[in-house]
Amino acid sequence: QAKRSGRGRVVVYTREMEEAAMRVTRIEQALRRAVAAGEVEPHFQPIIDLKMRQIRGFETLARWSDPDLGPVSPAVFIPIAEERGIIGPLAQLVLRKATEAARAWPDDLFLSFNLSPSQLVDQNTGLHILTILDRTGFDPRRLEIEITETGLMSDPCSAAKIIEDLRRCGIRVALDDFGTGLSSLGRLREFHFDKLKIDRSFVSSILEDRPSEHIIRAILAMCDGLGMEAVAEGIEEEGQAERLTQFGCWGGQGYLFGRPACAQTTIGLLRDSLRLKALLA
Ligand code: C2E
Ligand code: MG
Ligand code: MG
Ligand code: MG
Repeated sequence: QAKRSGRGRVVVYTREMEEAAMRVTRIEQALRRAVAAGEVEPHFQPIIDLKMRQIRGFETLARWSDPDLGPVSPAVFIPIAEERGIIGPLAQLVLRKATEAARAWPDDLFLSFNLSPSQLVDQNTGLHILTILDRTGFDPRRLEIEITETGLMSDPCSAAKIIEDLRRCGIRVALDDFGTGLSSLGRLREFHFDKLKIDRSFVSSILEDRPSEHIIRAILAMCDGLGMEAVAEGIEEEGQAERLTQFGCWGGQGYLFGRPACAQTTIGLLRDSLRLKALLA
């Protein structure tokens, strides 16, 4: 109960914090149950070659709907899973389901998968990933791991070791959300990335403001020099895609080309595009 005294504000804040903590705990408990029951599903969003306008691969995005809480965004449940120690089993579940689904795709398509910061501190991560690929019979050369700048920060040495292990097995590594993190460009000297994903915040304003355009062009020049492929995230309009293609950006991802979809819808999409290709050939 809030007091009227000067300390009242403190009491109100405390109650809000208590309610927030209770909600986090509810989500944590529901998520534990869902992971144990195998109820978190991978969805897939196409990544296309901008020049050829062809699908080259898909990013795996975790989806979860609880019977009581309804659908919960990964922006909410992934950080909770990280903080409460559920990320390991959750990631393994989603990767297993994703590689099983991707086996049905044409085998020149890649699958990308997001790694959380805490997974880059755990030296067992590489082994866990390789075990899953081995069991599902998925070629490591078709897998790409996405990590964020923040993920590299807490323990750069540990992250470097995991990244090198993965790359030695043929898994490609992408730097995600580039431009939004806290790390410096110097990180690009310490780590080797195969791909760099330009954050949606630059892409969404590319047609409106000059700074975004200059930043994107500078990032693309840097990718070129360092031998990294660039993928622009969050493309929603044709004009953005055209401008990015003109600047020489290799890949694109966004609602313009396709929203994240479940395994079954994704297979349908691939069948349709193959049929279309056969018709045009
Ligand atoms: P991310 O890895 O940067 O993924 C891209 C996010 O942008 C996805 O949000 C995607 O749905 C959204 N997006 C794609 N195209 C567009 C567009 O044109 N416009 C807009 N407005 N948004 C677009 P989502 O699925 O909500 O995922 C949010 C974040 O949660 C991801 O950001 C990733 O950091 C994390 N995440 C999702 N699944 C996993 C997972 O399996 N493991 C881990 N560790 N993190 C995950
Ligand atoms: Mg990503
Ligand atoms: Mg991203
Ligand atoms: Mg993002």
